[in-house]
Amino acid sequence: MPYVTSGQLIREAHKNHYAVPAFNFENLEMAQAIIRAAEREHSPVLLQTTPSTVDYLGVEQAYAVVSSLARHAAVPIALHLDHCETFERVMQAIKAGYSSVMIDASKLPFAENIALTKKVAETAHAMGITVEAELGKVGGKEDGLSVENAAYTDPQEAEEFVRNTGVDLFAPAIGTAHGFYKGEPKLDFDRLAAVQQTTRVPLVLHGGSGIPDEKVRNCIALGIAKVNYATELRYAATAAVRAALQDEAVFDPKKYLGKAREAVEKLCIQKIAVCGSANRV
Ligand SMILES: [Zn+2]
Repeated sequence: MPYVTSGQLIREAHKNHYAVPAFNFENLEMAQAIIRAAEREHSPVLLQTTPSTVDYLGVEQAYAVVSSLARHAAVPIALHLDHCETFERVMQAIKAGYSSVMIDASKLPFAENIALTKKVAETAHAMGITVEAELGKVGGKEDGLSVENAAYTDPQEAEEFVRNTGVDLFAPAIGTAHGFYKGEPKLDFDRLAAVQQTTRVPLVLHGGSGIPDEKVRNCIALGIAKVNYATELRYAATAAVRAALQDEAVFDPKKYLGKAREAVEKLCIQKIAVCGSANRV
């Protein structure tokens, strides 16, 4: 199956009221697990890396892992750069082969966020690359940047933002947070519906880890067409390694990283069911 842009997969999902799961990976085993799950369920899938994962793996190496797996995969796959704050790093990822990028200038004042996002969108679109952007603040911690009080996205500002920047995918802040939740997250469904009404583009749910499945499904019914899962995958991988290493006779990395791969695959299969993306390809 081809290595594609996320836009192709997500527009199809948006039209048909399901979501494409976007899974963060940190190593080869996690990337394999994600793709195995997608193949088993016949689901389109996005693999994504934060800039800190890019620092850890190397941008060319992250692309090499995914593109080589995609060449032999039975489902379409896109590689997305998650939460990138600078134009330069976005371009570096595109140059390395990423087919989809997020420019997160949500820390900047509104006008500056529009200006930077527009510049990224124009440049990336000229190369056929999908662009995601965010307005407002998703709470919690992502890649070392911590947001105390999530600022919810205003639907009118969202419309102005999407119209002026030309982004393909829009991530509104509706009460989700990165990392695990302390209590049950309070999601603002009315706001989500209003943002979809004003923007009309496929929407992205950040901080998918730990949101009850029913609430994720509600979000998808209201226009979410990409759901990000990072924390839960990291946790599943680490818990499996920790359990495998309880046996002190284990010394071969294949033994414990293999367990991580199995655990992540199992989790991805569950998330594919929540997204409604099984049997779509
Ligand atoms: Zn995020």
